[in-house]
Amino acid sequence: MASTQLPADLKFGLYLNGEFVPAGDGGTFAVEDPATGEVLAEVANGTVEDAIRAVDAAHGALDSWAATPPRVRGEILRKAFEIMRERTEEIARLMVLENGKALPDARSESAYAAEFFRWYSEEAVRMSGEVVTAPNGGYKILVVRQPIGVSVLVTPWNFPAAMATRKIGPALAAGCSVILKPASDTPLTALLIAQILEDAGVPKGVVNVIPSRRSGPTVSAMLSDPRVRKISFTGSTEVGKQLLHKAADGILSASMELGGNAPFIVMEDADLDEAIAGAMVAKMRNAGEACTAANRFYVHAKVAEEFTKRLSVAMGALKIGPGIEVGTEVGPLINAPAVDKVEELVGLALGAGAEVRLGATRFGKRGYFYQPTVLGRVPYDAPILKEEIFGPVAPIVSFDAEDEVIAMANDTEFGLVSYLYTKDMKRGLRISESLESGMVGLNRGLVSDPAAPFGGVKQSGLGREGGHDGLLEFSESKYIATSW
Ligand code: NAD
Repeated sequence: MASTQLPADLKFGLYLNGEFVPAGDGGTFAVEDPATGEVLAEVANGTVEDAIRAVDAAHGALDSWAATPPRVRGEILRKAFEIMRERTEEIARLMVLENGKALPDARSESAYAAEFFRWYSEEAVRMSGEVVTAPNGGYKILVVRQPIGVSVLVTPWNFPAAMATRKIGPALAAGCSVILKPASDTPLTALLIAQILEDAGVPKGVVNVIPSRRSGPTVSAMLSDPRVRKISFTGSTEVGKQLLHKAADGILSASMELGGNAPFIVMEDADLDEAIAGAMVAKMRNAGEACTAANRFYVHAKVAEEFTKRLSVAMGALKIGPGIEVGTEVGPLINAPAVDKVEELVGLALGAGAEVRLGATRFGKRGYFYQPTVLGRVPYDAPILKEEIFGPVAPIVSFDAEDEVIAMANDTEFGLVSYLYTKDMKRGLRISESLESGMVGLNRGLVSDPAAPFGGVKQSGLGREGGHDGLLEFSESKYIATSW
């Protein structure tokens, strides 16, 4: 039985070939509200056979979708954008229910997610190739861009709408058909997006959604099917590595958006008002449950105490509670293990000599809450600086020299995003170039934008999503040698 707070047209089956259907074995799994632990709905639990049926559907729809004029594909995506915009509030509330995030965060995500459909509705008509004369002058090098084919999309729970649209938008714009395997903690938003895409006119089989608690076997079966040509994954580095191994067997194209460990650097000449405002966004958006979350604060010794004090005041003023309550700014974390992990990392930091400047405890009697927390004087080698915290905790380390902070910032296997605050733009750009990350927020605490190439270096991933690059990830170049 489903909660009455859910959208009236939300369905709980697998979305297969344009229909919502039960799992092949009739199985379901429960989706819970992390603020209360209550069951919101029972959702079809896709089997390996269902996953292969989804590949059948996507493969059956591929040729005609690829042959659909780009303008028509773009207009369908535009329509999906418009429906998402009309339904922003409903989508936001659904995300609060299944993910726990505070309503303002959910509203921002809902709007951001819709923008991927708008951006890729515009990009659908821009799959340009090139023609050049061969260096010997004897013939032409003609390059055309073709859709890569059936694509498997696997998304995490922390941005249930945006991670889905960031993949579906470019895939459909490029002419690919897809099977989305949403995170099992948050499949409801993906199912609503499937309904919206159907309402926008996406033909049967072009988009399929397979919720499943059997993530490993279902995704693995799809990647072993020779009709699948692409895996686009967003999630942890650990699972990304497993999928890369799997993709290697079929020589599949792989785009990987993986974990982060973002440094947030405040130079002695930074505008501290701006740095605090940026830190609040970089750290506290989604209660810290973002791959882009500032994970380590490096603050110049001259301003470290002032910054720590002000950040503690700002984070201490946030209202924590169930995401759906009016005024809530920090919701619960996704589940009990998430809170346990944050608690353990904070405990290890304190054991190593860090000092509590704010919080450092759980919150409330039920649900999975952790207080906004600021830790000062964190030792360089504390595990909290090495691992993704994925919670509302800001560990602060002070530094004295530019070279020192660049070395500390780069001392990680991750490389998704870095944040840097300085009033000296020349210095800012120089340091930005030295930071080993795919993205830099220079005097900004937020980098995500559908028009920008989002992605990481090192173990934070392969490939880019968003911008024109995101479209190219779902295409392949074909070179035709000819002369006329
Ligand atoms: P996760 O890796 O546990 O799960 C991601 C997805 O993979 C889910 O759909 C899950 O069901 C599925 N999955 C899990 N095990 C699998 C397996 N063996 N085979 C196939 N699929 C499997 O990650 P999560 O906990 O859902 O999300 C948090 C992680 O995602 C963090 O590390 C975060 O940094 C990362 N993330 C990265 C980005 C980015 O753009 N770089 C964005 C958001 C989240």
